[in-house]
Amino acid sequence: MKPLDVTRAYFDKACDLLGYSERVKTMIWTPHREVKVEIVLKNDQEDIDTFTGYRIQHNNARGPMKGGLRYHPSVDPDEVRSLATLMTLKCALLDLPFGGAKGGVTCDPRTLSRRELEVITRKFVEGIQDVMGPMVDIPAPDVNTDGQVMAWIMDHYSRFHGFSPAVVTGKPVNLYGSPGREAATGRGAVIALTEWMRHNERSLSGLRVAVQGFGNVGYHAARLAEEQGARVIAVSDTQGAVVREEGLNVKEAREHKSQSGTVADYPGGDSLDEDALLALDCDVLIPSALGNAIHAGNMKGIRAEVIVEAANGPVSDEADRHLQERGVEMIPDLFASAGGVTVSYFEWVQNLQQHAWSEEKVNGALLARMQQSFQDLIEFRRAHESDLRTAAYALALERVHTATIQRGLL
Ligand code: NAD
Repeated sequence: MKPLDVTRAYFDKACDLLGYSERVKTMIWTPHREVKVEIVLKNDQEDIDTFTGYRIQHNNARGPMKGGLRYHPSVDPDEVRSLATLMTLKCALLDLPFGGAKGGVTCDPRTLSRRELEVITRKFVEGIQDVMGPMVDIPAPDVNTDGQVMAWIMDHYSRFHGFSPAVVTGKPVNLYGSPGREAATGRGAVIALTEWMRHNERSLSGLRVAVQGFGNVGYHAARLAEEQGARVIAVSDTQGAVVREEGLNVKEAREHKSQSGTVADYPGGDSLDEDALLALDCDVLIPSALGNAIHAGNMKGIRAEVIVEAANGPVSDEADRHLQERGVEMIPDLFASAGGVTVSYFEWVQNLQQHAWSEEKVNGALLARMQQSFQDLIEFRRAHESDLRTAAYALALERVHTATIQRGLL
């Protein structure tokens, strides 16, 4: 199933819960604007390479559109459209004053030099600069993009429009970034798990956690889960996984990855195939890699009791139904992966105010916002007797729909 079909299945289920007509569904589902640009690069061998970049702006009823930028060979319009829709709903669920967007360039950064990445980024900004802006559309990091890429975006946009730090978030902290932003998505995933456990009168202490994807989100989720007393028994990246029943040393594993390029051969645990991590006997599974990680082909092997969706769209519709029938609790991506955009909102506020917050203030505000959102979600779920994912979609959709009516956009 394609990512957009999975998102549509969840969207339809939530619209049905709310009793929305086909016309309302079409109005909310259809993206506001889709931009596709050609990016021409003179590569390091002095040859011409061309790439395609996308920015899909899904909805702006609740504010300027917000969403990450992904550099990956699998980027296509269907995937970007799905991720843009998720951003609209994620921002609404966290009650952030933003709509949703997403972007991507179809490329393999592992084969590109730093100079080539910089040229691609600047050419992409040239292609979309007239439809982005601090009050229009604000990109952020996603898979294979980081603070450096965001700094190039800020610089290039500012050449056209004057100095504009608020045009992009996830910048380096000394260049108008926010303390706490880099760890925010992983931190948010651990807050989501903590709130869920607390709701069930439990804690993270002693929980056995497996983390798929040991990049930005997965590393910080593993590190913070360990800090809360959980045992991180396995982590993985594209080259393999490493497992240790007594718990890995997460920071040491990360240092190993940054030196050798992969966590798969980290000597502090036993090597495992990366796909085998998903079927490990554990309490909590945190998918933090790409979409559709858990699907019809591997859903029967899942043994976790709780799945915290730190990645965007990691569980397919079919797998979701199967796991729910088995009583596996899924903390949905709209909530569990919202820490990053929440701190991006704080970064945007700091940029507009020209006033930097402390890391303590940022982390405290993130915790408060996610706790409030969890309460909203639990109350909505109770009132509508639905599962957590459908409640998250429906609560978000209701907020988008209400803003659309209040603004007279109908
Ligand atoms: P990243 O590029 O830093 O890390 C991704 C990691 O996943 C890499 O270590 C990669 O090796 C690994 N990976 C990819 N395929 C895998 C597989 N099949 N098995 C095991 N590992 C695999 O990206 P990130 O920023 O950490 O993003 C991860 C996910 O979180 C994405 O779904 C992204 O959309 C989502 N997300 C990111 C942010 C953010 O702030 N960065 C915010 C919200 C959601």
